[in-house]
Amino acid sequence: MVPRVVYGRGSFDQLADILLPKRKNSDAPFIFLVDDFFQDKTLVTRIPWLFNDQIIFVSANEEPKTEQVDALVHKIRQDFDEQPSGVVGIGGGSLLDLAKAVAVMLGNQGRAENFQGWDLVGRPSLYHVGVPTISGTGAEVSRTAVLSGPQKKLGINSDYTTFDQVVLDPDFLGSVPKQQWFYTGMDCFIHCVESLQGTYLNAFSQSYGEKAFDLCQDVFLGDLPKKDAEEKLMMASWHGGMSIAYSQVGVAHAMSYGLSHVLGIKHGLGNCLVFQHLNAFYPDGVTLFKQMLKKHLIVLPTGICVQLSDDQLDEMVHIALAMDPLWENALGPKWKERVKVEELKEIYLKI
Ligand code: NAD
Ligand code: ZN
Repeated sequence: MVPRVVYGRGSFDQLADILLPKRKNSDAPFIFLVDDFFQDKTLVTRIPWLFNDQIIFVSANEEPKTEQVDALVHKIRQDFDEQPSGVVGIGGGSLLDLAKAVAVMLGNQGRAENFQGWDLVGRPSLYHVGVPTISGTGAEVSRTAVLSGPQKKLGINSDYTTFDQVVLDPDFLGSVPKQQWFYTGMDCFIHCVESLQGTYLNAFSQSYGEKAFDLCQDVFLGDLPKKDAEEKLMMASWHGGMSIAYSQVGVAHAMSYGLSHVLGIKHGLGNCLVFQHLNAFYPDGVTLFKQMLKKHLIVLPTGICVQLSDDQLDEMVHIALAMDPLWENALGPKWKERVKVEELKEIYLKI
């Protein structure tokens, strides 16, 4: 679990005080990895940089890659003689995962792709702090940093991956565009459905999942003032992330990985595209999801898979079915008997 967290509007301004005792000396910088959306925004003036700290703006247009992590680590090692004091990630799931991965790799030797998997990290990461600026993924609280590598899209899952400190400041959420707010927020809603309907469910996951599920319904089906909705979504994301930390996601995520791998569709949108067609697996969740789409006048793109070749479609299905734990969580130990290749192809072709 994340050992330290501050919450509240304006809490970002506590970052200077939080980092100060963690500064090793004036030659050991903090590296700020910041979503480039903020490049020309006033936020930049509020980043508490000192001495030789470095701010690196990164685009979240593409999800983080192992080679991007390797390049950043190489640059940081070249730029400084000393090991940095720590890494701060400011942005959505993409930047949070990037910051986690860079902190892990600065504490370890080798290439990031060799650490994709479970508990492959041998040495501690650098101190790292996460500041989410959009809510839903739960990346701020999870023990994984999801990366696309040459072989696979898979997280660096380890106890060293989890942030040492998180700053939850709902003020950041005000500038998120509506579509993106919905897609990333639905990632949280889908985490809840997949966790609560899964066979891996236990009392720990259930307690967080139910809270997040209720908060999502308040946010996406209620009529809350905007600021209340921002605050509740930030906490829903946290609880949803905690819920899957001790269980697993399910069918939407497995199939969304296929879309991402073959077509580069981003996580939040990919989950929505799949989930709308999962009545057979999550009937109640899909009904609520459709109400949410309608209420917020969100029209999902169509025709995404029409141009796929047979080989590409096969590859998508192959990638989805390779996520054994997700299917086992969704359908139980005999999942292979219950899920048919043709059924998955049909779903992809509807997208
Ligand atoms: P994102 O980080 O990809 O950002 C989406 C868009 O929102 C970007 O264009 C970004 O610039 C913009 N944005 C971010 N904050 C903003 C703000 N305050 N105002 C305006 N625009 C803003 O989005 P995401 O959905 O949060 O993250 C998706 C990533 O999270 C994927 O790479 C996925 O693999 C990962 N993920 C990780 C976990 C985990 O546990 N580690 C869980 C789920 C998803
Ligand atoms: Zn997700």
